Amino acid sequence: MTAFWTEPDYDDHELVQLVRDPKSGLTAIIALHSTHLGPGAGGTRFWHYAQPGDALRDALRLSRGMSYKNAMAGLPMGGGKAVILADAARSKTPELLAAFGDAVDALGGRYVTAEDVGISEADMVAVSARTAHVSGLPVADGAAGGDPGPFTAMGIFHGIKAAVRHKLGRGDMAGVHVAVQGTGSVGGGLARLLARDGARLTLADINQDRAAALAEELGGEAVSSDAIMSVACDVFSPNALGAILDDEGIARLEAPIVAGGANNQLARAHHGAQLAARGILYAPDYVINAGGIISVALEYLCRRDGQPCDINEVRKRIAQIPVRLEQIWQESEQTGISPDLVADRMAQKLIGR
Ligand code: NAD
Repeated sequence: MTAFWTEPDYDDHELVQLVRDPKSGLTAIIALHSTHLGPGAGGTRFWHYAQPGDALRDALRLSRGMSYKNAMAGLPMGGGKAVILADAARSKTPELLAAFGDAVDALGGRYVTAEDVGISEADMVAVSARTAHVSGLPVADGAAGGDPGPFTAMGIFHGIKAAVRHKLGRGDMAGVHVAVQGTGSVGGGLARLLARDGARLTLADINQDRAAALAEELGGEAVSSDAIMSVACDVFSPNALGAILDDEGIARLEAPIVAGGANNQLARAHHGAQLAARGILYAPDYVINAGGIISVALEYLCRRDGQPCDINEVRKRIAQIPVRLEQIWQESEQTGISPDLVADRMAQKLIGR
């Protein structure tokens, strides 16, 4: 058996905990990558993994990504992530969520959880019955916090405008052609913001009806999910799956900019350099998609400190995303190092690695 710590995705994580509760059927992994800047914050994923090793790899990779994301967003939070291994039927019971809440609580605030794929706001409410170290809970209208999707979309929107300014020298979005892959919470919200600014939209989703309805509403065009990556456009914006920027995907791109919210867009580390070699400006995913965690983190800190959470503070911090991107692109141009690696180095410095 190979040593666990020689796993390529293990990066001297501070803690990797296996949680088993036979009574409720809970099997989960909580990974804390770094608490250098504060409690490790990152959502819980509920997913049916083909192999337990896939769940471990997901937890290791995602928690490191959260360290980088939180650091680059200027948050006083470290990086953590939890995965709950769903059974084939993906049954999620109140008992299972309660046992998970107990496991989070046992870490005494070193890990703060929230929603991720497969986990709803209602699930987080159930978890919050057992621990205070949870965020992304329902909030009053106009208050910061709650569903992170709209805040993530807001940050990507600012980031796309910065990329268009940087690469195309355009100060407005009128007629700028954006191809949006995935029209769910993030991609759908982003498309609405872009449409309001006069962008030309091409949309795709594996749920074709969803993409078609949004295209109709916003006056854009819907194409098949197979075609979206080769649409000739100004910006390709991935907001569905990770690992889409592989050899084949990059070769198909007909856009000078890639800027979207999907996590882990680069299939492998060298694909960042491959984008740069094709002259494509890349907005590192964990920098441009930090709007949601900014909201979730401030919601948590305000609740913990018994303070009201000002949505304007969230907006102000999200408006810093383009500033960070501009720093990355400038350093990349000065050094010849691709933007993803420049971002990684900046993040590593911030977390003392
Ligand atoms: P979502 O489930 O609401 O939407 C995803 C959409 O993508 C769905 O409509 C789905 O049908 C579609 N899709 C799936 N596979 C596709 C494919 N091959 N081609 C086209 N469409 C496809 O999820 P979301 O919250 O909008 O998240 C989207 C991405 O952004 C994910 O990668 C997520 O990890 C990332 N992200 C989300 C947030 C957030 O605040 N929600 C924050 C940071 C990153």
